[in-house]
Order: sequence, then C-alpha cells, then structure tokens
Amino acid sequence: MKLIFIGPQGSGKGTQAEIISEELGIPHISTGDLFREAEGEVKGQVDLYMQSGKLVPDELTLKILKQRISQPDCKKGFILDGFPRNINQVNLLKTITEIDKVIEITLSDFEALKRLEGRVSCEKCKEGYNLFTEPKPKNPLHCDLCGGRLVRRDDDNEQAIKKRLEIYHKETEPILNEYKDILIKINGEQNIEKITQDILKALR
Ligand code: AMP
Repeated sequence: MKLIFIGPQGSGKGTQAEIISEELGIPHISTGDLFREAEGEVKGQVDLYMQSGKLVPDELTLKILKQRISQPDCKKGFILDGFPRNINQVNLLKTITEIDKVIEITLSDFEALKRLEGRVSCEKCKEGYNLFTEPKPKNPLHCDLCGGRLVRRDDDNEQAIKKRLEIYHKETEPILNEYKDILIKINGEQNIEKITQDILKALR
C-alpha cells in the first residue's frame, strides 16, 4: 500500500507514520529526515532553506525521494511523510508512482504552535518528547531512556514555526483537493493511541 500522510507541523504525522509503518510492514519515508541526514553537496544545498523554514526546491526534493523509493524495501509500498507539499510536487509524484490513500491529520494552529514550541528530542538516541504535552520527559534537560541531552530542532524556533505553518496553509492544504477521492480525514487533537486506531480502522 502506498500512503501519504499530510498534516500541519506538530500534528503527530511523523509519529503516526512510524507506528503505522511498523503495523503494515512498509517503510516510513520523511523527506525532512532525508534532508536532515543528507551529507556533502546535498547538505550544503538544503541547509539554508531548512533553517529558515522555507521549502527546498521541488526538483532536488523529487530527486532525493525518487532515489529512496527505488530501494527494494519500498516494493510492497511506503508511507510518505512531508511529501508532496505543493501542487507542483503532486504532479511530479504522479510521474514516478501512484498513491492508494492519503491520510490528513487535522490540528488547529493554536495547538500546532504549542506542540512545536515544546518539541525536543534526545541528541543521542533520537527519542522524542514534548515539554508541554505528553510524552513529557521526567527531566526537561535529559532523555528518560539514555540520559542524553534533549535538544530542539534548528527550525523549531517561533519565527520558523510560523513560516512553516503559513506555507502549510498556503501551499500544502490546497493539494488535499487533488486527492479528494482517496482522502481520509483524522482528528489530530486526540491522544496518540486513539489517532493510530482511527487510522488503522479507516485503512481496513
Ligand atoms: P519536516 O521535517 O517535514 O518539517 O521538514 C523540514 C524541512 O525540510 C522543511 O521546512 C523544508 O525546508 C524541508 N522539506 C521537507 N520536505 C520537503 C518537501 N517535500 N519539499 C520541500 N522541502 C521540504
């Protein structure tokens, strides 16, 4: 099954994509993660866009994605998280693959800002927490699991967050209309387990 998860930053789509990916045995592909893990020339090309919350150019994004979905583990399907983000990317995606279902996770801007400002993760083991909402770490500075330092993402500062939400409404939300025949809408203002149940129920 080839799925797309769409939702504003902070909607928990990354967390859900990870859980559903394990449930269905298909890889979770986040273009944001692919860029954060990039090295060398690509890293140099994407860093400035990412730090200011702007979108990386579509052609470069497609190239990275195409490489990833041509790997053997994507044969049975995959979950795309963070792609496509605008109409041009929808059209580019059509040229490389077909999508079965699109899951939209909804969240108000108010809740998104609150969640993103509190978002931290462990520098060492990458476990994610939120300082204001569950799952909170026992100690705001250190990871519960390995004691590593808890850090914010470079682009989780107020200015970059507002920019990312603005781009979401202006460029990403309109693409939902392109997928209206295969769209499943899920309420993101519920706990993690309930959201997972709702997604799995809708996919069955
Ligand atoms: P994310 O982790 O999905 O919030 O993505 C972090 C950053 O990576 C974004 O703010 C963009 O700079 C870049 N990025 C991720 N996915 C895309 C995409 N589909 N198109 C362009 N830029 C992207």
